[in-house]
Amino acid sequence: MAEPAKLPLDSMLSRLDEVEHLQTISITGGEPTFSDKTVKEYIIPLLKYARSRGVRSQINSNVTLDYNRYEAIAPYLDVMHISFNYTEAADFHQVGFAKSGHSVSYEAAARLYERMIGNTKRLSAGGLYVSAESMINFRTHTKMADIHKLIVEMGCKRHEVHPMYPSAFAVDLPVINKKEMRDSIASLLDNRDPSVWMLFGTLPFFHCSEDSEDRTLLRRLAKEPNVTVRNDPDGRNRLNVNLFTGEVFVTDFSDIPAFGNISSDRLDALFERWIDHPLAKSVDCHCPAVGCCGPNLLVKDMYYRDVDFTVREAIQER
Ligand code: SF4
Repeated sequence: MAEPAKLPLDSMLSRLDEVEHLQTISITGGEPTFSDKTVKEYIIPLLKYARSRGVRSQINSNVTLDYNRYEAIAPYLDVMHISFNYTEAADFHQVGFAKSGHSVSYEAAARLYERMIGNTKRLSAGGLYVSAESMINFRTHTKMADIHKLIVEMGCKRHEVHPMYPSAFAVDLPVINKKEMRDSIASLLDNRDPSVWMLFGTLPFFHCSEDSEDRTLLRRLAKEPNVTVRNDPDGRNRLNVNLFTGEVFVTDFSDIPAFGNISSDRLDALFERWIDHPLAKSVDCHCPAVGCCGPNLLVKDMYYRDVDFTVREAIQER
């Protein structure tokens, strides 16, 4: 229940200093705010560094700890990112502890669930930008509209929605098909609160798809007010640094091993190395007419294993 030692903060900051075009940092976990000492001695100084450099910051937290821990971070943070895939405490009990390795009572889970909701409401009411992310998977795909309603009630300013892919911790996840995914997104669009920004990412639909229903959904998404479909940063313009070991990965979701360490490599050099990697090249397509920068590696692996995106092009609609 204790965190191992981390790299000295100064070595992380000097590596960040070397990155010429750094625009954002995300601090993720596990639970990055788990240790009060880490919050004070590591996270707040990292956030202050980002502010001083004009770099945007995000923390991915489950906000289930004492409120004062988040209150201390809030003044230096741009976005508090939470995961929210639930319609009630029973969902949280079932999903939130699926990989915990020990049994957790319903009562204990329900207390954490209530605290997560209470903390989110307080942080939102205090002016912090809270973005809630939900994953579309076999468990949630018919419940997305109800999940969205709770996210709106908590005062979140953005609802981020991604399909969940069977990788890393979710490797044994039952797969839903593309029609179920499309139906889930359509129902969410039909029932959403349009005043809340909805940000979709990692979608398995592309304008070069031969399936016209994929393209129809993309056209609808482009027309909806306050809806964005982002291109995926992982593997394109984002690196992940493990602050315990210094190892650098291309994305937190893929099974690609570390390809460098900040103790010996500059981040810009590591990024160049990744961009030259055959795997990166396999999804290196770009269709400016539809604003698409190609698929995420996980998406390609799950739905398009035999497709060569480098020879495809967006289909122009008549
Ligand atoms: S950029 Fe790639 S994935 Fe996107 S439409 Fe073009 S060929 Fe398809």
